[in-house]
Amino acid sequence: MSGSLPTEDPLVRMYRELKRASAKDKAQVKWAMVIDQAKCIGCHACAVACASENRLGPGVVYRPVIEQETGTYPNVGRRFLPRPCMQCENPPCVAVCPVTATYKNAQGVTVMDYTRCIGCRYCIAACPYGARCADFGGFYTSRTAESPGQVQGRYAARAYEKQNAPEYGRNWGERGKGSPIGNARKCHFCLHRLAVGQLPSCVTSCVGRATIFGDRNDPASLVSELIGSPRATTLKPELGTRPAVFYLA
Ligand code: SF4
Ligand code: SF4
Repeated sequence: MSGSLPTEDPLVRMYRELKRASAKDKAQVKWAMVIDQAKCIGCHACAVACASENRLGPGVVYRPVIEQETGTYPNVGRRFLPRPCMQCENPPCVAVCPVTATYKNAQGVTVMDYTRCIGCRYCIAACPYGARCADFGGFYTSRTAESPGQVQGRYAARAYEKQNAPEYGRNWGERGKGSPIGNARKCHFCLHRLAVGQLPSCVTSCVGRATIFGDRNDPASLVSELIGSPRATTLKPELGTRPAVFYLA
């Protein structure tokens, strides 16, 4: 077997580093993500895992995988850009919220307080990355045909869709009865999973190991290593938003 093959799955390393970060004082940790476009195969597994994890209804997408065409005919190619919230250090979305329903937490994640959000959508308009969505309370099964008297998959699917979102470590109750419906929603690096020692859903589901996550305040972490790479870049750096999501182009 070639000596150049990696000897350890990056997930194993990330879990080890997560344990190290979890043992630190919260204020000493800064979460960051690195997405390697050369490894992303555009399978959308991360987008699906995210929607499932956070019980996202129609029109609410935290992590789209955008397809990009490269080159000029006949030398053309295709690459993929998974696009979660950038967790900006200088976030335009926070500045415009009239009720401080969105703010930065101690670990650098831009979070929502659904109980304060009045659904004005100013933050959605202010985000230069299109990373926020309004939740209008839809269900994917709404238009599925019914056959009275027959038990069909629709009922099982609707029961699944109604389950509460686990976001921010709180039970939001059955979907359809209040928040997060009516609120602005966004990626939060799966804080509820990090709190119980699990990596974000998009990271563990990534078949290409294209998504790397960890503590950028830990100089020995894989994210710190990759952020230091000459390939590392951020989206729209000219805006001065200072994203915590980096891309290896
Ligand atoms: S990407 Fe958009 S939603 Fe996320 S922190 Fe930046 S401005 Fe806010
Ligand atoms: S799961 Fe990984 S490989 Fe698949 S689209 Fe998402 S980032 Fe790309």
